[in-house]
Amino acid sequence: MRVLSLALIALLLLPHRADAYLEFTISVAGQSTAFTWKKTPVRWFATDRGVPGVTASEFQAAVARAFTAWESVPSASIAFQFVGFTGAEPFDEDGVPVLGFQNEPDLDRVLGVTGFVVDTVTGEIVESDVFFNSAFPWSTSPSGDPTRFDLQSVATHEIGHFIGLGHSALGETEVRPEGGRRVLATGAVMFPISFGRGVTLDRELQPDDIAGVSDLYPDASFRKETGVARGRVVRNGAGVMGAHVVAFNPRTGSLIGGFTLNTDGEFQIAGLTPGPHVIRVEPLDDGDVGSFFAGRNPIELNFQATFHDRLFVAPAGGVGERFTVTVRPK
Ligand SMILES: [Zn+2]
Repeated sequence: MRVLSLALIALLLLPHRADAYLEFTISVAGQSTAFTWKKTPVRWFATDRGVPGVTASEFQAAVARAFTAWESVPSASIAFQFVGFTGAEPFDEDGVPVLGFQNEPDLDRVLGVTGFVVDTVTGEIVESDVFFNSAFPWSTSPSGDPTRFDLQSVATHEIGHFIGLGHSALGETEVRPEGGRRVLATGAVMFPISFGRGVTLDRELQPDDIAGVSDLYPDASFRKETGVARGRVVRNGAGVMGAHVVAFNPRTGSLIGGFTLNTDGEFQIAGLTPGPHVIRVEPLDDGDVGSFFAGRNPIELNFQATFHDRLFVAPAGGVGERFTVTVRPK
């Protein structure tokens, strides 16, 4: 449902840096720079209009809880401040972040959309807006409403974009006979496809989301206390682009993913708890490739899911021993 949940305003997006999850980047003087807010707390407004089942103040409270989820990550330093209600629309380019409902019946698979205005010289996010599609039924019920979508869950996902995160591929889906995909499980709120009505699981961030926000907005301890995995994925001796690389920590049970994002097949995954990790490489097969790579090509899908034959040991701070995973064609 969230398949197209990213609107790109006034600039070209290059998901480029090889990090855990994806970050949005732009190329400035040949250097890749992540989009981030530079001033904190980030101020935001809510529209003054509710929809059936959700008043404007219930909307504001659910969105504020979603902001709190990101703000509460101990290893990240971003903060938010609600300023007030506004009669403005989310996508007015007015320099003010606005979140609200908007009726977009033509977007019949899109629950929410986040857009940006970015300073293309510095990578600073100047404005970000989010709308929630009021063509769908919404709920802010604490336990979820089985006939409606959980606003707080979708807001948590959209606010991940709002702060500069792209999609994570940590999820399993099945194709439904009537079309579309059904989500079976995810390892990230930033998985691009939403759970169904009534499901509130995405109110809570997962390790991959936490690594993402911490890498974008690290607090003083993050780089010292977590490690980075760096390496390559190759097939027939050549780099594989677009491979999904997942680090699993058997002690904590956490999964953190990244992608190979260049034709040399290089990847980087930050935010790993020190200690051994199992590394698995797989083609992107759950969801639309375009929702991860914004048109970057060529994304390789013709290889077998493969476990690296050794454990990767993440150090406490810095980059661990580099390694190469060799995959075979399907
Ligand atoms: Zn999304």
